[in-house]
Amino acid sequence: MSKPLKTIFYSVFAFALILQIFSDSQAQTVEAKIKITESNAFVEGKFTDANQTKNVTNFSFLKSYTNIENLGARVSDVNLFDKSGQKVNHKKLVDGEFLADSGFASWNYKSDLTMPKNLSAMAHVSWISGERGILMLGDLLPEFTEKTSAKITFELSPDWRISSVEDRTGENVFETADVEKAVFYVGKNWREREIAAGSAKINLIMSGEWQVSDDEMANTAREIFAFYEKLFGGKPFEKYQIFLGKFPPDIKTGRWEAETRGANITIFSSEMNFKTQSLQRLHEQLRHELFHFWFPNGVNLAGNYDWFYEGFALYASLKTAVAMNRIRFEDFLDTLGRAHSIDSLQSQKRSLIEASKNRWNGANTQVYARGMLTAFLIDIALLQKSKGRNSLSEVLREIYQKHNLFAPRTDGNTGILNVLQTRKELQTIIERYIKGAENIAWQTDLEAIGIESETKNFTTKLKVKADPNGRQKDLLGKLGYNNWRK
Ligand SMILES: [Zn+2]
Repeated sequence: MSKPLKTIFYSVFAFALILQIFSDSQAQTVEAKIKITESNAFVEGKFTDANQTKNVTNFSFLKSYTNIENLGARVSDVNLFDKSGQKVNHKKLVDGEFLADSGFASWNYKSDLTMPKNLSAMAHVSWISGERGILMLGDLLPEFTEKTSAKITFELSPDWRISSVEDRTGENVFETADVEKAVFYVGKNWREREIAAGSAKINLIMSGEWQVSDDEMANTAREIFAFYEKLFGGKPFEKYQIFLGKFPPDIKTGRWEAETRGANITIFSSEMNFKTQSLQRLHEQLRHELFHFWFPNGVNLAGNYDWFYEGFALYASLKTAVAMNRIRFEDFLDTLGRAHSIDSLQSQKRSLIEASKNRWNGANTQVYARGMLTAFLIDIALLQKSKGRNSLSEVLREIYQKHNLFAPRTDGNTGILNVLQTRKELQTIIERYIKGAENIAWQTDLEAIGIESETKNFTTKLKVKADPNGRQKDLLGKLGYNNWRK
């Protein structure tokens, strides 16, 4: 290493260190003991540094998550104490929100972790039932204004195990840098195996009897992870965990619910009628959820840019399915046609940016359908302009590389639009559909790749033209047309 280079290296290193110290001073550290009995958690906690207590009088918990409400009502029997262990009086403001008379340093409370009535919540919040449960510190521990790291000790029944990607520092003791991202699977009678996928390690936990074998589950996770690692040119975390659980038997065939939090994927499903369908659907679930390890979990982007990480997850997953010969090109076109029908039927037209702000107030379908169609249109525009040399993959890779977890925190919509706007061919798409609320009029875009769209009785159907020209055939090939022949 030459001398000037070495100096630059050291100064970069020193700068990184300063940033590190700065960001640590913004964080809160707590220690907690979580004792699990039946369907309750008894939690005792304290600030690791008692000097941090001076202004903290709010003791509050996550009240809703996605469309799951009333989470605060699960918290009861709250006690707060000062530095010397004297009880601090408090009053309950609303469910999950308490106000202390003065600063507090430690606390205890009970959290009712009975299985949520709405079973789709099983993938998204903490619960305990029978011989297993999921503990998500984001709803189990109190919320403070700053990012909170924690040292957690679990007390479980002796025949229960605990699984997590967080750092294990003792038996049932873990340290986590961000409680919002920490997930723990607890219980017994599940199957667990560590698999190598791309350059990463994935801990796979399988619970319940399935038509799909454990080997097939492992292979599916492995091949998709490796595909994405190559697509994005890197991976955000070192260790990952995937939990595949079964809904209770009374849940109807085909239902599933998933959550990707930090480096954890939690999926609950009911079985399909045939094994081939079950394997197909597992592939689809993992293509979608694994995408979320990169977007949004692997980037330092903030705000409501759901249109991007949901819509583009759907489209990337669909295109990956064609590339991996999991679906036919006709299925690819059918799905896009359906998304177009759904988007056309929306009574209130919204731009993607507006829809993302209102995702849990009726705009969820638009976030997905319109987001997916926009990703497709961007892919076509890039393919057409570059004569097939560039595609959406380059854009996804650029956004990931530019905004990975080491990059400064940036607003998601701004960061993504800045990358898209460097490509002139994307200008109209950005104005009409991402920032604007126009109907998706795609005839001209489709013509470039030799695809025809027909809408009858509010239903859109896409098909490849009877006789595409050479250039159209080339671009169709890039999208995976005739892929099964290779
Ligand atoms: Zn998603």
